[in-house]
Amino acid sequence: YPKKDRLPDVNSPQVKKWISEIDWSKVPKIPIAKANIPNCPDCPKNKSKIPKGACWWTCDGCVADDDIEICPRQNAWGLTYDDGPSEETPRLLEKLKRSNVTSTFFVVGSRILEYPETLKRQIKEGHHIGIHTWSHAGMTSLTNEQIVAEIKWAEQIVFDVTGLKTKYWRPPYGDVDNRVREIARQLGYKTVIWTKEWDSNDWQIPDKTITNKEVYRNFKWALSTVPSLKGGIITLEHDLFTQEVNVA
Ligand SMILES: [Zn+2]
Repeated sequence: YPKKDRLPDVNSPQVKKWISEIDWSKVPKIPIAKANIPNCPDCPKNKSKIPKGACWWTCDGCVADDDIEICPRQNAWGLTYDDGPSEETPRLLEKLKRSNVTSTFFVVGSRILEYPETLKRQIKEGHHIGIHTWSHAGMTSLTNEQIVAEIKWAEQIVFDVTGLKTKYWRPPYGDVDNRVREIARQLGYKTVIWTKEWDSNDWQIPDKTITNKEVYRNFKWALSTVPSLKGGIITLEHDLFTQEVNVA
């Protein structure tokens, strides 16, 4: 496998094989975004600078027809945790078990290297697994080949550990445009983001840019909007840091 939290080598025979299975004539030629990899690329200050036809969710909120950003059923709640598995994940699993709740975990492939048993436990306890790439880079800042490698290596390790083939993925930071989408589609994936306003922002607690209290308060406010929504909600939480699992 490639190294933890590092972009995979795109010249390995394995990756070359995956790349050769894509029909590149169908992948739109949208310019690669500038970023300090693995960070999320900055959006152009002027919205008119967003490439035409990009449908770049993080920058203009554009959603493709086959993106999943809400639950079809009203009042349904799709609870999702990203960025694990980590040493904090078992504690979250205990919490979920106590509440008799299952969730979807979007796992970072390279973090499974250290915690394969946690992944097996997540499945055994009835949770769903989607992938969240190999190294958690912003996808619109990667080359086509790097995107293939990021998705397929994550798929590969989940398969090797569990025998299961994943069908859903969530782009890190929600950073997806039509180039990234088409590659994911051809690899057999449905792109899952989250419902607007439903990022719990728990990831900001470790940075101290938000407090536990504010996370709870925002969440309560968001709950009050549920009756006016067309469908149910998909919320975003994380299981990488202690503080995130504390508010889970
Ligand atoms: Zn993430």
